[in-house]
Formats: sequence, C-alpha cells, structure tokens
Amino acid sequence: MEVGGVLRVEEVAAPEPGGECVRTHALATQRPCEGCGSDFTPRRLWQRHCTPRCQQRAFLERRVAAAVASRIRTSTEVTS
Ligand SMILES: [Zn+2]
Repeated sequence: MEVGGVLRVEEVAAPEPGGECVRTHALATQRPCEGCGSDFTPRRLWQRHCTPRCQQRAFLERRVAAAVASRIRTSTEVTS
C-alpha cells in the first residue's frame, strides 16, 4: 500500500542520534529522474522516477528500444 510505504519512510526518518542519519539524508535529497531528467525528491530509497507515470513511460521506451534492437539483430542475422 502507498500509505504504508510512506509511513515506513517517516519511521526511518525519525530523529536518531548517529549512524542512520546518512540513510535518512540520502532519502530526502533530490535526484534527477531517470525518465525525464527533472529533479524530484524520492519517497522511497529505490525510486528512480518522479512519478509512476514517468516510470511507466521509461519502462515502455526501454521495451520498445529492446524490441527494435532485437529486430535489427534478427534482420542482420537473417541477411548475414
Ligand atoms: Zn520523470
């Protein structure tokens, strides 16, 4: 669930002297989206896209690229 994930992040971000601070910091820092390149603040440590929509788009683009690549490879295999 979306809400559960956010709650968990807030627990991690709870003030705790020492060690865990770096992890909390990394989570709160903005990073460029791998899909559109715009800066966003990830709500999850593994989040690499600004929105689920953007992630979906990037996923589809990768699939299309892979399909095109395999088609090119197949066609070169056929011709050679
Ligand atoms: Zn994006």
